[in-house]
Amino acid sequence: MNKPVLTIVVPCYNEEEVLPETMKQLLHLLEQLIAEKLISRQSKLLFVDDGSKDQTWQLIYKASLQHETVKGVKLSSNVGHQNALLAGLFAAKSVSDCIVSIDADLQDDISIIREFVQKFHEGYEIVYGVRKKRNTDTFFKRYTAQGFYKLMKAMGVNVVYNHADYRLMSRRAVEELERFEEVNLFLRGIVPLLGFRSTVVYYDRKERLAGETKYPLKKMIAFALDGITSFSITPIRFISIIGFISFFVSLIFGMYFIFLKFTGHTQTGWTSLIMSIWLLGGLQLIAFGLIGEYIGKIYKETKRRPRYIVDIDLLNLPLRANHSS
Ligand code: UDP
Ligand code: MG
Repeated sequence: MNKPVLTIVVPCYNEEEVLPETMKQLLHLLEQLIAEKLISRQSKLLFVDDGSKDQTWQLIYKASLQHETVKGVKLSSNVGHQNALLAGLFAAKSVSDCIVSIDADLQDDISIIREFVQKFHEGYEIVYGVRKKRNTDTFFKRYTAQGFYKLMKAMGVNVVYNHADYRLMSRRAVEELERFEEVNLFLRGIVPLLGFRSTVVYYDRKERLAGETKYPLKKMIAFALDGITSFSITPIRFISIIGFISFFVSLIFGMYFIFLKFTGHTQTGWTSLIMSIWLLGGLQLIAFGLIGEYIGKIYKETKRRPRYIVDIDLLNLPLRANHSS
């Protein structure tokens, strides 16, 4: 087999603090892999600037002038980690045999990229990086993340446990991924749907090297909710089941009230009546909320908006004369 061209895609949002170190380490690794004849000399690092407000793009651009292996794509605005990652994958696919996606903060052990590539040589098309332990994450992050995976499983969404978008994909897998045209693309749910021969490589997750998390609680909840509602109708089913149960319960109560009426105690039903009004009112509101969540999805999908807009793509086509800002 010819040596495969590897592209490492790194989405970056306000990562100026950590980026120089990340570049240094990834460049070093890439050179090693080339020297070990595991990958082709054409292999590249592709940094996607997700509309950063700091010096992230300037750093990427400068590095691309110094190193032939460093390339950059600059998105015109902040579109979030998932979309930035997709921008990178789709930009890289035509010039790569396999693509590794990794975060910019060096939390994921980059040395296992070697194993990713070895697995690719063995014929695997998708290799998932899976965290062994999360003891460097905060207590809170660990438990919310665990809850997230459990909830996804319970909702019938097939996700790889403790895997977070650190993976290798073959060019073919990325090409197939592109055919999923939904705008709310939840990668961790879609990639297992692709099928193909896939495997797992374990590693220890470290602490963020510098800078702070771009996933505060609010974004994490939105991410989880997005993941669930774009993959599963279990919440709606759940509501329908509750609806049925309360319907039968109120039938029984109804018979009880009729019995009370005939035995002359009509006043006594007031408490349960007011309770059921509140209960049903609450249930209806929850149901509306959930249905609204799905209608929101439909609304977004029908618009077919592009997920991202590339401003500068140093990898494929120079779009503007001056790319430095
Ligand atoms: N990121 C991005 N766009 C965003 C938010 C984050 O491209 O709007 C990138 C970020 O630069 C990092 C990766 O996504 O490379 C993961 O973000 P982070 O490390 O903050 O998330 P955490 O590891 O805390 O879940
Ligand atoms: Mg991180």
